[in-house]
Amino acid sequence: MNCTSCGMPLRTPEDHASGDVTKEYCRHCAHPDGQLKSYDEVLAGMTAFLQRTQGLDPGVARRTATATMAKMPAWSGRA
Ligand SMILES: [Zn+2]
Repeated sequence: MNCTSCGMPLRTPEDHASGDVTKEYCRHCAHPDGQLKSYDEVLAGMTAFLQRTQGLDPGVARRTATATMAKMPAWSGRA
């Protein structure tokens, strides 16, 4: 399965929030206590990740992250 918040593949228990395989989102999208982060927190994290890994400009990275999250089940209820 993939993280319902960012789409990252969840391959091992450690990839899941708090190492809990019943959680449908990854450790990057959760606080240390296993609670899903807010939309804005996940968006900020994904934007930084895209800038770091793909060298995108901040504005481009943010638009890409917004478009990616719009397709994710965890955020699909948002306008
Ligand atoms: Zn995630």
